[in-house]
Amino acid sequence: MLSIKTLENIRLNAQVSLKPDYLIHPTVSGNKYRKLKYNLQKAQSENYKGILTFGGAFSNHIAATAAAGQALNIPTVGIIRGEELASKIELNSTLNYAQSCGMQLEFVSRSVYKQKTDPAYLKTLLESFEDFYIIPEGGTNALAIKGCEEILTEEDHTFDTICCAVGTGGTIAGLINSSLPTQKIIGFPALKGGFLNEDICKFATQSNWELWEAYHFGGYAKVDSKLITFMNHFKTTFKIPLDPVYTAKMMYGIFDAIQTGKIPKDAKVLAIHTGGLQGIEGMNLRLKQKQLETII
Ligand SMILES: *Cc1c(COP(=O)(O)O)cnc(C)c1O
Repeated sequence: MLSIKTLENIRLNAQVSLKPDYLIHPTVSGNKYRKLKYNLQKAQSENYKGILTFGGAFSNHIAATAAAGQALNIPTVGIIRGEELASKIELNSTLNYAQSCGMQLEFVSRSVYKQKTDPAYLKTLLESFEDFYIIPEGGTNALAIKGCEEILTEEDHTFDTICCAVGTGGTIAGLINSSLPTQKIIGFPALKGGFLNEDICKFATQSNWELWEAYHFGGYAKVDSKLITFMNHFKTTFKIPLDPVYTAKMMYGIFDAIQTGKIPKDAKVLAIHTGGLQGIEGMNLRLKQKQLETII
């Protein structure tokens, strides 16, 4: 547990701690490790021939699945959103990395990608990749939630507020299920709108949670100079790197909510660092092209 002490937080008497779950594994980082754990066990014990999953160009889930497949010697296939990327793999650090781990990348158009949960489409994929175990985009399914229920432990019972970044909602569902009813779980969506509430309700067994939607910075993988400056300052001060897509937005939101009193005085806050640091390289390339401040 790392203590995040700022003069401002101390003045406002808010205690913020960070759970460095991103250190759980060197390549299968943070919540993606939690989400893959029981899925990989199932694929192994039931003798599936490989893992097939879905993701975008900078997907932490794609990188983690590729790394896990390499470590366990399980073939992996990534169905990647965007045909135009096929000729640009070496310019994309995430895809380049996934391929170097042995993942077979299949690029599909955005309209085909939209069928990613359609049973008829999945059936055609299984004709090409017979006996592969399919994991949905972002890795969220019932076994992933089970893995995420292991993030919180008994020593975390002393916190009253638990914060995490939200993509598909699997991670927060696991946190909700393993929290005390008296604890409040606050999710910071990294994307605009979506059907997150519904998705979380599908898996969550308690109602002690809220989504704070004001910190998506324009949408998924969108950043501005305020966010980059914040995360660079955070790293310099606390020696903890944040990722631009998820954890930086959560931490920015926590600091803002303490300032504005939305997180009350005397709160004991635990922020979950879910990982995602592999995405920094790709984001920096984009920032450099736009001649903006990069992530240190
Ligand atoms: C994928 C991811 C999330 C979101 O997890 P969900 O279970 O999809 O909500 C949060 N943080 C990081 C670093 C991630 O890579």
